Amino acid sequence: MHFELTESQLMIQAAAREFAQSEIAPVAAQFDVSGEFPAKNIRKAGELGFMGVEVPEEYGGAGLDSISFVLMLEEIAYADAAHATIMSVNNSLYNNGILQFGSEQQKHRFVTPVASGRAIGCYGLTEPQSGSDAANMRTRAILSADGSHYLLNGKKSWITSGPVADYMVMFAVTDPAAKSRGITAFILDCKQPGFIRGKTEPKLGIRASATCEIEFTDYRVPVADRLGREGEGFAIAMTILDQGRVGIAAQANGIARAAYDAALSYVKERRAFGAQIGSFQMIQAKIADMKTRLSASRLLMLQAAWAKQAAKTSGARTTTEGSMAKLFASETAMFNAHTALQIHGGMGYSKELPLERYFRDAKITEIYEGTSEIQRLVIARQETGIR
Ligand SMILES: Cc1cc2nc3c(=O)[nH]c(=O)nc-3n(C[C@H](O)[C@H](O)[C@H](O)COP(=O)(O)OP(=O)(O)OC[C@H]3O[C@@H](n4cnc5c(N)ncnc54)[C@H](O)[C@@H]3O)c2cc1C
Repeated sequence: MHFELTESQLMIQAAAREFAQSEIAPVAAQFDVSGEFPAKNIRKAGELGFMGVEVPEEYGGAGLDSISFVLMLEEIAYADAAHATIMSVNNSLYNNGILQFGSEQQKHRFVTPVASGRAIGCYGLTEPQSGSDAANMRTRAILSADGSHYLLNGKKSWITSGPVADYMVMFAVTDPAAKSRGITAFILDCKQPGFIRGKTEPKLGIRASATCEIEFTDYRVPVADRLGREGEGFAIAMTILDQGRVGIAAQANGIARAAYDAALSYVKERRAFGAQIGSFQMIQAKIADMKTRLSASRLLMLQAAWAKQAAKTSGARTTTEGSMAKLFASETAMFNAHTALQIHGGMGYSKELPLERYFRDAKITEIYEGTSEIQRLVIARQETGIR
């Protein structure tokens, strides 16, 4: 066993750090306040290959491995978690699903523009009445009498990049009696009639990542744009999430590391009672706990990314690895953001420093792509075999 990164992994990590620090960090606070979608930066990220890190070059991507992807995303999230959310959805939930389950024609038509940063992808699983219990979705897809297209009606909620997306991987019920085996996946062109975007959700954190409801009213999706076979949709959705969770772990680790680094410098600068606050044992314990959790969390993330990469040839599911990495990293991000804010005292509470933003941004990592409760349930089910 060795822990060194390869030359190409080090290169993408350095390129992402350079881009994040020069283009994203200086505007992160401004985008957090305005809630504006950072379109220019996302386009530049696409030009650098960051919107399709694992996508083969023939489909417009960078053709790199899963470890390169998490290293890239961690650097982006270190500067701004909202940018990382947009990039994570594009790379993991959108591109990855089509690459695994799509036809050759679908990969060329739907992955190439998104992987090269010319278009934005999104993922529609959640509905107003079904988040954790995703199989309880109601959006219906009914095959036309001539078998040429499906007619979609229903509503998806909390769709990241929904307000700006060009294409969507989404899931709808084709056979209600078959429950989760009656769900089918589709790829939609968001500019077609019947694709109706709701208002952008006002959010606690990751405010520059636009989120909205999407309503479908008689949206016609050609049969050629179905992803996989009828009834395979739920398994496709869960496989995509297994792998997407590694990206959320990377996002959470970026936030956790940013909070830790801020705390580490502050304990050396700030003085109280005639001494650096870093000399107080209660502060030292906080630094030790933050650093230890962060290191453990990054190892779980790298293990999950390694497993995800290996699964590309073995076809194995990486459910437990992805859930453990996401669960631990999101709780580490919350712990480090909370602890770093506390270490900064009153200044931690001020909008002049990014600590309060880290604190607000960290929270989402415990909620989307499966809450922490759901990750524990998934891990325990995998371990015990009890459903
Ligand atoms: C900012 C943001 C962006 C998002 N982006 C997307 C996106 O792009 N695409 C998409 O499809 N979805 C997206 N989501 C939806 C997200 O995945 C869901 O919000 C999440 O899965 C939780 O579902 P819910 O909100 O319906 O909560 P619920 O499922 O209603 O859960 C409420 C509470 O009950 C707990 N709970 C539920 N079931 C159990 C159980 N069996 N055991 C123990 N506890 C349980 C949950 O953990 C939670 O604490 C996004 C959400 C947010 C907030």
